[in-house]
Amino acid sequence: MSETERERDGESADRTAADGQFGRYGGQYVPEALMPALEELEDAYERYVLENEDGFMDEFERRIRNFGGRPTPLGRADRLSERYDSEIYLKREDLVHGGAHKLNNALGQVLLAKYMGKERIIAETGAGQHGTATAMAAAHLDMPCEIYMGRTDVNRQRPNVFRMRINGAEVNPVDIGRGTLKEAISETMREWSRTVERTHYVIGSVVGPHPFPAMVRDFQAVISEEAREQARAQLGGLPDAVVSCAGGGSNTMGAFHHFVSDESVDLYAVEAGGSSLEVDEEAGVAPNSATLSTGDEGILHGARTTLLQDSHGQIMESHSVSAGLDYSGVGPELAHLVDEGRVTPVTVGDTAALEAFHRLSTDEGIIPALETSHAFGYLHEAFEAGEDLGETVIVNVSGRGDKDLETVIEETEKRGLESAPDMSVFETGGGI
Ligand SMILES: *Cc1c(COP(=O)(O)O)cnc(C)c1O
Repeated sequence: MSETERERDGESADRTAADGQFGRYGGQYVPEALMPALEELEDAYERYVLENEDGFMDEFERRIRNFGGRPTPLGRADRLSERYDSEIYLKREDLVHGGAHKLNNALGQVLLAKYMGKERIIAETGAGQHGTATAMAAAHLDMPCEIYMGRTDVNRQRPNVFRMRINGAEVNPVDIGRGTLKEAISETMREWSRTVERTHYVIGSVVGPHPFPAMVRDFQAVISEEAREQARAQLGGLPDAVVSCAGGGSNTMGAFHHFVSDESVDLYAVEAGGSSLEVDEEAGVAPNSATLSTGDEGILHGARTTLLQDSHGQIMESHSVSAGLDYSGVGPELAHLVDEGRVTPVTVGDTAALEAFHRLSTDEGIIPALETSHAFGYLHEAFEAGEDLGETVIVNVSGRGDKDLETVIEETEKRGLESAPDMSVFETGGGI
């Protein structure tokens, strides 16, 4: 048995112990029609992912390397280190094929569907990032793919709709409700229960009924598996803190997983504080997506977890300048780790995230996704406030910001932020 195999075996012991419950959270709160699909998936997860049957995990690791571009570097951020007088290291998931961590999960699940003998892939998408990653993975593995996307999102995320279509995926607009992510997930679950025999549903984060939260975490855990080894090789030891932005929580769980039992490592999950943490129930929409920090217990999309809901238990819509963080729920394992005090939830508002976006771009030459910018916003606020995050901090750069440029320019100008670069070059008629 090779060392990695032995390590994997050791881990699988505590992974399998999870029966889909993370403390009070998790479970399988789904209609009866979906139970056979979940049972089949649970069986496949245990055999292929946990036990590496037929060499599944070996093939996943080979493909995530050769197609996905792993391992991603852990690099020192020189200017930020100087600015905060601390060693700041960046785990570069923005360099994964497709520009974000999302491919780790999409590739894992599409490959699993192949091993299960499924003939078709379906997935939901909000901003289009998960749909894009799934369409890429499906093209790579030669599987037909259909993406469900709320009508509102189809209209406001056109570039990602083009990407999915170009990779050969069908895009089905969902016309119910507000036409955003929540409805897209519900519709994809319905479609799955209708076609389960030949279809696999690739869910996009560590959410949904068991086994999705555990399985998606295991595919994303490659982030902390690499980061932990890289830290020991490059820094001579473990970091004092790991910081990551949390929407559904998949890049967070991926970046935290192998550090959870290292008690000296502090873990910070940065949520979108949006425009305010105050909620006006009448409005039906929370002005933030700070689920871990402000939500409470309920059931959404097949799992018991922490949610944004009103006093009648109705799910509240969320808000963030960053589409990928704009979700009313969060993964059950992350909710549990917060309850246990192992993970500290913090929030960063829209404006601070925009400022952090510009700071990282000019300081380090890395244009981060708006989601990721929240993690850097927290780093800044913490050090400015004199909080001690420790001597070495790893920030997970969940994705790159090319997709966000228009939003960022528009929102920075609207707010008159000083950090905004002057774009008057477009108005002078001269060459750029
Ligand atoms: C989708 C996305 C997120 C949020 O999703 P999680 O499941 O919370 O990781 C964060 N960063 C980027 C770049 C994304 O595309």
